[in-house]
Amino acid sequence: MTEAIYPGTFDPITHGHTDLVQRASRLFDRVVVGVAGSTWKQTTFTLEERVALVRVALHGIERVEVRPFDGLLVEAARALGTTVILRGLRAVSDFEYELQMASMNRRLVPEVDTLFLTPAEHYGFLSASLVREIAALGGDVGPFVHPAVASALVAKLQC
Ligand code: ADP
Repeated sequence: MTEAIYPGTFDPITHGHTDLVQRASRLFDRVVVGVAGSTWKQTTFTLEERVALVRVALHGIERVEVRPFDGLLVEAARALGTTVILRGLRAVSDFEYELQMASMNRRLVPEVDTLFLTPAEHYGFLSASLVREIAALGGDVGPFVHPAVASALVAKLQC
């Protein structure tokens, strides 16, 4: 059985993330979407909220499981028994950070490999931080996120 973990902050999940999960679900028998609890990023949504929104957005995609995780990603991968970490590459700007992280994770656990997927071209510009900014300024994020995520953003950011 082939398995992979797709880790991220998902603050919140966008159509770009979902596009990647759909692609991965065609390549692996099981894809675990790991929602990071401990992160240096200050998140807009709590871990519980992010997990709940990821579950709603990915509902119906087969062979996908959503799980929160804490601590080192490589340890979460090891606990799951998977040696494949999935990440997304949108543009050259993602590359340096992603390469550094992939190399460090391999240094920590040599049998773990990072696999990169690219989203559909029209999601190449999409990021959770831009979506949060648009929502905070009263813009329509409908084209970029699941309706439940759009509502959650309005409730959270447009007080
Ligand atoms: P992190 O804080 O771990 O970077 P993110 O939720 O921002 O978490 O992103 C998780 C992964 O999804 C990263 O590999 C990121 O490059 C990728 N990603 C984010 N947005 C998109 C998108 N629009 N298309 C493809 N991949 C994306």
